[in-house]
Amino acid sequence: EIRVRYAPSPTGHLHIGNARTALFNYLFARHMKGKFIIRIEDTDTKRNMEGGEQSQLENLDWLGMDWDEGPDVGGDYGPYRQSERMSIYLPLIQQLVDRGLAYESYKTEEELEAEREKQRANSEMPHYVYEYAGLTEEEKQAKIAEAKAKGLQPVIRFHVPENHTYKFDDLVKGPISFDSESVGGDFVIQKRDGMPTYNFAVVVDDHMMKISHVLRGDDHIANTPKQLMIYEAFGWTPPTFGHMTLIINTETGKKLSKRDESVLQFIEQYRELGYLPDAMFNFIALLGWSPVGTNEIFTRKELIKAFDPKRLSKSPASFDGKKLEWVNNQYVKKTDSSVIADLSLYELIKAGRIPADPTPNEIEWARQLVALYKDQMSYAAQIVELSDIFFNQPEQLEEAAMQELADDDALAVLNTFRAGISNISQFTAVQIMKVVQEVRQETGVKGRKLYMPIRIATTRSMHGPQLGESVELLGREKALHHIDETLA
Ligand code: GLU
Repeated sequence: EIRVRYAPSPTGHLHIGNARTALFNYLFARHMKGKFIIRIEDTDTKRNMEGGEQSQLENLDWLGMDWDEGPDVGGDYGPYRQSERMSIYLPLIQQLVDRGLAYESYKTEEELEAEREKQRANSEMPHYVYEYAGLTEEEKQAKIAEAKAKGLQPVIRFHVPENHTYKFDDLVKGPISFDSESVGGDFVIQKRDGMPTYNFAVVVDDHMMKISHVLRGDDHIANTPKQLMIYEAFGWTPPTFGHMTLIINTETGKKLSKRDESVLQFIEQYRELGYLPDAMFNFIALLGWSPVGTNEIFTRKELIKAFDPKRLSKSPASFDGKKLEWVNNQYVKKTDSSVIADLSLYELIKAGRIPADPTPNEIEWARQLVALYKDQMSYAAQIVELSDIFFNQPEQLEEAAMQELADDDALAVLNTFRAGISNISQFTAVQIMKVVQEVRQETGVKGRKLYMPIRIATTRSMHGPQLGESVELLGREKALHHIDETLA
């Protein structure tokens, strides 16, 4: 059975890169009719963030991924939080110590740093040097007893086998091998605070949870030989690994890093701006993976059907914020108006454009406003800027607009239009456009010279959505007031 997992450390919110890892695992599981599992890797207690786990799960859920096993839904292989699995790890660590494959190490942080310093000065790769080298078992035990007497806390280190090559066939990158010398010496499997390290716990869990494939970011590729050593020590068969290439920010040409401020990187930031989960899902699925063909818009179902990990890209994925906007606009256009209206209403409220507890009339007005802009919107928060003319009228018209008004035709059009809209019984787009036709007949002015002065005088802008609807939404009072200001 195919069993894959997404294993976040709850150190922060769901990042685009992690969402991609989760999503590819999810697509693979669903494509293969396997299981998708969430495991919380929270053994680095200093880095855990309050609410981090909740935020990860919430955003995965928002993106439309569901999981078969996890900390909230349980499952046959739990617990699904590493901090709750200590009774599984500790005996296994002890077993390695008892078998002589791991040992207590008392070098202090200062000693280790001094060691690395010296190595760097000699242009060596920093590595741990075995602290009991050349000692007999008795001398070693004496040294340990002495450290214990001083009250020092040990870490447990794993003995890296010498002259060994660790090979695996990476699903994305093909055959990869590491010499045992490349991992920097005996590595820590249990920290001073008693917690297992990531490299140890991940192996135990992937084995115990019967994980068949590990798809993760290639920042973990150098960890893989260490993990293979642990599998070997226990005589367990490792899963199939696949390491996905990093993500490059198209804007900067650099690796997408959390410090990069040129682009939003957390799922909830997009959520807050009114992006649509289906669009995000679609976009993220194409970060370093592509189905056959050139189409770029896919439903979840289509993605699940098409997903093939062999098509994961070997070259870096490119994160293009503009493309994300385009994809989202495709979805906005085909999404039900009421959904977009709700998202936009929230944005208008947030921006202070409409009251936080709008009246039914205000809601209706805002819905009509959103409908005017829906097809142009990449995401809901854009409504605020797009619809600015309904909230902020410039005191001074721009130069080009003044030009449009500077002749007798414009004057005649505006006066006639003003009289017309003062009289209509219902202030609706249809009635307003009827007035415009009457103006045309009365003044003989047509085309741009007819529409532009009306648009400018009422909305105080040369650009905007359909004229009739715009004037209707402004309301009679404002429309008349603006025309008077313009004529003054
Ligand atoms: N907790 C690790 C991370 O967040 C998981 C790595 C893995 O998938 O093995 O990077």
